[in-house]
Amino acid sequence: MTMSLPMCAIDFTNDTMGPEEEAIADRIAQLKKEMGEDLLILGHHYQRDQIVMHADLLGDSFLLSELAAKSNAKNIVFCGVHFMAESADILTSDEQRVILPNMRAGCSMADMAALFEVETAWEQILDQTGLSDPATAKKGESCLIPVTYMNSAAELKDFCGRHGGIVCTSSNASGILQWAYDRAGPNGAVLFFPDQHLGRNTGVSMGIPLDKMAVWTPGEENDIPNGVKIVLWHGFCSVHKRFTVAQIDAFREEHPNGVVVVHPECPLEVVQAADANGSTEYIRRFVASQEPGTHIAVGTEINMVARLNAQHEDLEVQCLEPTVCPCSTMYMIHPAYVLDVLERLSDGEIPNQVVVEKSVQIGAKIALERMLSIKQ
Ligand code: SF4
Repeated sequence: MTMSLPMCAIDFTNDTMGPEEEAIADRIAQLKKEMGEDLLILGHHYQRDQIVMHADLLGDSFLLSELAAKSNAKNIVFCGVHFMAESADILTSDEQRVILPNMRAGCSMADMAALFEVETAWEQILDQTGLSDPATAKKGESCLIPVTYMNSAAELKDFCGRHGGIVCTSSNASGILQWAYDRAGPNGAVLFFPDQHLGRNTGVSMGIPLDKMAVWTPGEENDIPNGVKIVLWHGFCSVHKRFTVAQIDAFREEHPNGVVVVHPECPLEVVQAADANGSTEYIRRFVASQEPGTHIAVGTEINMVARLNAQHEDLEVQCLEPTVCPCSTMYMIHPAYVLDVLERLSDGEIPNQVVVEKSVQIGAKIALERMLSIKQ
């Protein structure tokens, strides 16, 4: 089996560990055993193998939070980024603590939309379009419905909950947008944040023309024309925006029978040039469904692609971008940080706990529960 080697400094095909890394792994395993069912380690698909090997559960951010809420573990160590730990804290009970091994592990996309910017945009778009806030709208008025991607701060989920809006994931975005349009009224619109690409790709898949979409860039003059169906926040994922149509063309030239699957956080032209697109779970299923011997180029984070390649020895799975590096913030979860929080937990400390204020949890829970109530 071959694999395109990323040209950044890290060799993802080399999963051997040196003596120091082995000592860290052994000590983590020992502490896990000592803490038993009180401890649950969650690993996002984009984490490196040296983290995933310790994870009790592997999945995408929402699935992991849901599973954590169903567990009896007192201490939940979330190997992912900050917004994921926040979602887990919202969904878990007061008796459970969510711990992020490295508090600097944020998400560059989530950081592109701050609450004050969204509040400013909200007021201006309502003014410019004459649409109503669903929280105060009178019967029959057309509304602007806020929809936030799971990859956003808890404060933005709370904003959505307080303004008649909702949360979406990359796997349910079209169903959620349909829910929003059903409530917006015939002339209503959606404000979608923070990922413009997921919003645009979902809108196009639902038949919304591009000239009925507008982009809102915080800090700039924005003029939202009448009749717009979706206002897209100018945010993006720094990993997924690196994939291009030229990379797809190059792959097809080398592998005319190969297939391309990408994440919907990629730009529209990349999604349209691919054979398929979907969430991390969709990509996993798509790869697993291919005939033996198939060459598959995957447009998502390199750790997940390398793992898919290792899991499917009968397939040739490679990253669409041959020089792609991992998500730099996911990569901040080093095994040494995991060991550090476990040692401190075992000493009776509560390190790096992520706590979402109760006042923020109320609206965020409403927005998340609205999402859960929608059957896809
Ligand atoms: S892959 Fe993109 S969206 Fe996911 S955590 Fe990294 S920067 Fe954020």
